[in-house]
Amino acid sequence: QVVNYAPFTLLPSAVPRALFEQAYAVQQDFNLLVDAISQNKEFLEQTLASTIKVDDFTAQLFRIYMQVLEEGLAQTVFLGINRSDYMFDCGLDGTAALRQIEINTIAASFGGLTSRTADVHGLVLKVLGKTEEASHLLPNNPAKGLALGIAKAWELYGSQRAVVMFLVEEIQRNIFDQRCVENELWSRNIRVIRKRFRDVFEQGSLDASRRLYMDGQEVAVVYYREGYVPQNYDQQNWEARLLLERSRAVKCPDIATQLAGTKKVQQELSRPGTLEKLLPGRPEAIARMRATFAGLYSLDEGEEGDMIAATAIADPDRFVLKPQREGGGNNLYGEELRQVLEKIKDSPERTSYILMDKIKPQPALNYLLRAHSPLQVSECISELGIFGVYVRQGQELVLNQAAGHLLRTKAIEHADGGVAAGVAVLDTPYLV
Ligand code: ADP
Ligand code: MG
Repeated sequence: QVVNYAPFTLLPSAVPRALFEQAYAVQQDFNLLVDAISQNKEFLEQTLASTIKVDDFTAQLFRIYMQVLEEGLAQTVFLGINRSDYMFDCGLDGTAALRQIEINTIAASFGGLTSRTADVHGLVLKVLGKTEEASHLLPNNPAKGLALGIAKAWELYGSQRAVVMFLVEEIQRNIFDQRCVENELWSRNIRVIRKRFRDVFEQGSLDASRRLYMDGQEVAVVYYREGYVPQNYDQQNWEARLLLERSRAVKCPDIATQLAGTKKVQQELSRPGTLEKLLPGRPEAIARMRATFAGLYSLDEGEEGDMIAATAIADPDRFVLKPQREGGGNNLYGEELRQVLEKIKDSPERTSYILMDKIKPQPALNYLLRAHSPLQVSECISELGIFGVYVRQGQELVLNQAAGHLLRTKAIEHADGGVAAGVAVLDTPYLV
């Protein structure tokens, strides 16, 4: 009922060219890795065993995962759209290093809106008389890249009449971001419908070969922009999720790929030897990925967890404490981290969290433009995201690409939170 502009920085932010290129160069590796994890039942089972004992949400996702595997997968085409996020860690000598914050494997957003930000910042620079600088801004169109992946999956599904279904939230605050991707599909003559879990519960059905129908209309691809936090689910929505997962339709992502994006899996990936087991025979890809990892630590019960918990309680500013949640605003820092860890350090509850080294980027000045907020200069830090898209048919990877980037910038007062959480704003990298 009320439309605002998406928040953005007045000026593009400086990003070291070498780190930007490093982030692009490693994206296909991360696509491969996520895809490999999603097919490795043993790894997911082992890695999430301690987490699902204490985290109900992950446990419920895991139950559906197991149920679908037991029945046997009807889905044969797989589509992954992810976004690997990084910050630029400033070392003692002042040099910056690329450090991965996380990989989002479900509902990774802002690929649409950010396809427009380079134009906005180009215009601002021109108005400021910086025509030369404006010409250096890179073109960027993740919306097109994401649509390319969805279109490929739709084509391989192989039914001209079938539609792509965007699964969207009850109340949509980010509809225009989604429309950018949707419009790319319409321009390729692919029909798109937008439905909620509730609609799936009421209108969804499977035929004998588990083709998915919504009110009689066949669905080829389900693109989730919903379903990644506990608040998205009630009993009916869980039933709808199970129906979708059981179906032959291409889920973006399937439930295994959603689980591959949990913080617990990320922490386990940093353990020596894990990447080698997941991607045998790919030492170069492994080296590229590992070069971006920050320190990550398990809080599972046992000596290793006891030691790191004690270290973090003694020196909380070195760490971030992360639960198995998405969407920003869930992590704990500083004094709050210390208090929470102190309280749960001797209980199994601590295994629902992981610890991560805190990344400390060099701040820069910028203006954050947000509807109804006063204009003031802020000390800011940025987070770079690279979109990845891949499509697999059976065992054959038929598409594996980086699909564009997203730069989000926030004032340093906020330790946490993305654009949707009202903290960060859209930005454009100015490579230096
Ligand atoms: P979410 O799934 O909620 O997006 P993230 O792991 O991306 O979880 O963390 C949310 C935000 O917290 C990030 O966008 C970043 O601003 C901040 N953050 C996360 N991890 C770190 C870290 N290791 N060091 C510094 N800031 C971090
Ligand atoms: Mg994040």
